[in-house]
Amino acid sequence: MPDNRLSTLISEEAIQARISELGAQIRADFGSETITCIGVLKGSFLFMADLVRAIGGDVRCEFLGVSSYHGGTRSTGVVQITQDLRFPIEGQHCLIIEDIIDTGLTLDYLHRMLSVRGPKTLKMVTLLDKPARREVDLTPDYAGFTIPDEFVVGFGLDLGELYRNLPYIAVYHP
Ligand code: 5GP
Repeated sequence: MPDNRLSTLISEEAIQARISELGAQIRADFGSETITCIGVLKGSFLFMADLVRAIGGDVRCEFLGVSSYHGGTRSTGVVQITQDLRFPIEGQHCLIIEDIIDTGLTLDYLHRMLSVRGPKTLKMVTLLDKPARREVDLTPDYAGFTIPDEFVVGFGLDLGELYRNLPYIAVYHP
């Protein structure tokens, strides 16, 4: 049954086409280096699964658990690490993989936290970028789509843990 609280913002086809482009661009930029991909849980899990396949070559997959919303639709600005990396990243070429950048507080915090661990490279990719509500000066190295200031769900993004399995991105109308 169609859910009339959802309206499609980015189709499955458009997402997949853009991920292919991002993967090729990232692989070209990193050359033949092994890339340590650091997925920010939970929202990035679908994007990461498709992106690492599009990047190709040698990649390692690691995950950071972060909680910043506590179930609501507004960022609290308080970033809680619920699962840290299991290995050191010193000397590695790293790519942080995020689902969406909104205020920028989460990624800014993670970037500072990881950069002190001495990676050789530390880049950031986000599927979605919502620059309208940025509170810190942060520009990702790679962004899939710039979107308006709307609350979106799907393709890994949730509302109260639902909707993550939608294969497209939708605006949620409460
Ligand atoms: P920021 O710290 O940049 O404000 O927010 C980052 C996190 O907030 C994202 O990783 C994501 O979990 C959540 N977030 C921000 N905007 C949205 C949105 O429109 N929809 C959903 N579902 N989560 C969002």
